[in-house]
Amino acid sequence: MIEVQNLTKQYGETTAISDVTFQAEQGEILGFLGPNGAGKTTTMRILTCFLPPTSGRARIAGFDVLEDSLEVRKRVGYLPENVPLYHDLSVVGYLDFVGKLKGMSKQTRMRRIGEVSEECGTDDVAERTIGKLSKGYRQRVGLAQALLNDPEVLILDEPTIGLDPKQILEIRQLIRSLAGRRTIILSTHILPEVSLLCQRVIIINKGKLIIDDTPENLKYRLRSTMSLDILIRGPKEAIISHLQSLPEVESVAHKDTAAEDTHNLRIDSAENRDIRELISRSVVEKGFGLMGMTAIEMSLEDVFVQLVTEEDTIRNG
Ligand code: ADP
Repeated sequence: MIEVQNLTKQYGETTAISDVTFQAEQGEILGFLGPNGAGKTTTMRILTCFLPPTSGRARIAGFDVLEDSLEVRKRVGYLPENVPLYHDLSVVGYLDFVGKLKGMSKQTRMRRIGEVSEECGTDDVAERTIGKLSKGYRQRVGLAQALLNDPEVLILDEPTIGLDPKQILEIRQLIRSLAGRRTIILSTHILPEVSLLCQRVIIINKGKLIIDDTPENLKYRLRSTMSLDILIRGPKEAIISHLQSLPEVESVAHKDTAAEDTHNLRIDSAENRDIRELISRSVVEKGFGLMGMTAIEMSLEDVFVQLVTEEDTIRNG
């Protein structure tokens, strides 16, 4: 449904994306991850015909973004990171306005506004002014406008950013319900979001595609190191040497001493599994006091560092 081949975009001297190639199959939710400045927005703008590529090509349902941009626009719905909502308009008034911009007839607009309002759960706020809606509802309106022309492809840029936890769950649920009939590209900074929603994930870094894989494989690759932040009571040297003697522990670092005999340590494991139970049992059996333990989640930045290093190692042998 979406085919991107050797896509490159230069802004003057700056190469925003370089030689990017990927595909998305019909009905799939494709996660699109990358740090700031990686080239995600540029790629999405090319796919939505807002920007022409410098070279390479992109096709939606077989139509080229440059040669058949009208056909592409008919088939793509876009939810940008900051939706240009008109705060003084009512929800229905705004959707009607967007429908006019998209060249839809009055009859089609009325029918589709009814359909998308039901699909996105905005019918109870139809007459409310957009400026008075919660952020979660505004995001629903943003999705409703993207869906208005019944597109086969939906491109969503950070759709859950700035929402509270309950709204995040609701928007994710909504996104999941929109897939199937539609193909979705979901750009996000949130790794678990990708595992929850996407069948495949691509990662872009400094304009280059570095990963095209399933979320399960990605998780497996990333879990190969696990880190724990642990607070233990007992003699410092004895604790460290005990932890270092465990085969599952790769390294131990003393971070600070919380109280006279209570030490905050960081443990890195090379094991591809959760070592929390093993560590806690062994610490207690040894007669130390286990005062606290937290698994350190990898931040997205850590993930990129790891993946990029991995790629370099593979490339350079
Ligand atoms: P992301 O969405 O992943 O944060 P972008 O696609 O916005 O990344 O940006 C990719 C690169 O292109 C960045 O280095 C950015 O500074 C540059 N860039 C983006 N838009 C422009 C522009 N209009 N003019 C010049 N450089 C740009």
